[in-house]
Amino acid sequence: MSKQLVAIIGGGPYGLSLASHLAARNVPHRIFGQPMAFWSQIARAGSRRYLKSYCFGTNISAPDPGSTFADYNEPRGLETFEPCSIANFAAYGLWFQERHVERIEPVDVANVSRRGEGYLLTLGNGEEVEASDVIVATGLANFARMPHALRALPGAAATHTAKVDSFAAFQGLEVAVVGSGQSALEAAALLHEAGASPRLLIRKPSTLWMTRGSRTPTLWQRIRWPVSALGGSPKAWALTQMPGAFHRLPACGRALFLKNFLPPEGAWWLRERVEAQVPVEHDTMIVEARESGNRVSLHLRQGDDGRERELLVDHVVAGTGYEVNVGRLPFLAPELRNAIARHGAAPRLDASFQSSAPGLRFAGPASSISFGPVFRFVAGADYTARTIAAALTRTAMAHA
Ligand SMILES: Cc1cc2nc3c(=O)[nH]c(=O)nc-3n(C[C@H](O)[C@H](O)[C@H](O)COP(=O)(O)OP(=O)(O)OC[C@H]3O[C@@H](n4cnc5c(N)ncnc54)[C@H](O)[C@@H]3O)c2cc1C
Repeated sequence: MSKQLVAIIGGGPYGLSLASHLAARNVPHRIFGQPMAFWSQIARAGSRRYLKSYCFGTNISAPDPGSTFADYNEPRGLETFEPCSIANFAAYGLWFQERHVERIEPVDVANVSRRGEGYLLTLGNGEEVEASDVIVATGLANFARMPHALRALPGAAATHTAKVDSFAAFQGLEVAVVGSGQSALEAAALLHEAGASPRLLIRKPSTLWMTRGSRTPTLWQRIRWPVSALGGSPKAWALTQMPGAFHRLPACGRALFLKNFLPPEGAWWLRERVEAQVPVEHDTMIVEARESGNRVSLHLRQGDDGRERELLVDHVVAGTGYEVNVGRLPFLAPELRNAIARHGAAPRLDASFQSSAPGLRFAGPASSISFGPVFRFVAGADYTARTIAAALTRTAMAHA
């Protein structure tokens, strides 16, 4: 295909950042998806939901100054450090979109396949679009990880936190919440506050909580625990300052690093909403789950001695995280999906986020195995948008 058109799939922080940088460089593009749909859905599902990241670490990227999350919050009298409300973040995204993304087409992409040297996209409304380049910026959609033991349960009995549309819908029910990270802990708090009776089942012997960072750190604190978008440690700081450096490490080292960095833990401000409110069973594994009438029977193995018992609940909520798996992206045509080279199940990306399929790029959490933990978070959007926009500007010059 001789004419350049970049198709961005997804209207979240990464998609919007990319569109704003491409527009500034006059690279022809279209962006598809409901703006900030993921964040609006999270905000709707429960009240009192906050970002785990700092305000300064949750900026959508524009080429010019003046559009950070704090720039949105400050004049409105909203929090500018932490914790920032998720509803405000969704509103910030829409404000950003109005300022920087002239046109976003609120339609899903149903299919992407190869067409000559480029791609053919079929939209949810049936329209077909030819693109020279495609950027997949669909976040964590499709990557929810459900533990083996729960997979046999029907959807009405077990829900991943990603799929909870309303915590209030569980009012009056006994709910087992599985997991020890922010999603599980937050789900337990929201269920309790909505009038349900949650019980946390945690495989680890204890729950980890983050400590509260100082708003006005001393010089020593800033040297010893430099605060960055990933938290307060020199390692986290280095990762955010040199996001491209991670890409140069050997693949096996990157995978190991990613696995061990940032263990599951809850935000400090969530602690009092969980402890003393929600019963927690540590050292607990679900061995088997089955329907029992209109309830769910969980066969648990607990403690050092591996004692076993049954727990009967009305529902199970799995806060068991996400796993990037390119094979689970339903809109990639099978022959295209199968042709993408991988690290494990994640796409293998070059320094410009390009996969082994020329012109097909991945942004956001799907790029974290190649670029590091920053890219699991909004904080990675700036580097991503600048790097991809620069690469596509070079391609635009070649097309001219
Ligand atoms: C409960 C929860 C809390 C989180 N809190 C934080 C936090 O505090 N700070 C942080 O930095 N990160 C947080 N994250 C991680 C967060 O998911 C990523 O940082 C962020 O979503 C990355 O932005 P994105 O643009 O890649 O994805 P998203 O914001 O998810 O945007 C992707 C968009 O693509 C759309 N889409 C999917 N498929 C298609 C399709 N076929 N066609 C068109 N559009 C499509 C989706 O609807 C979605 O709107 C949290 C995640 C979860 C689950």
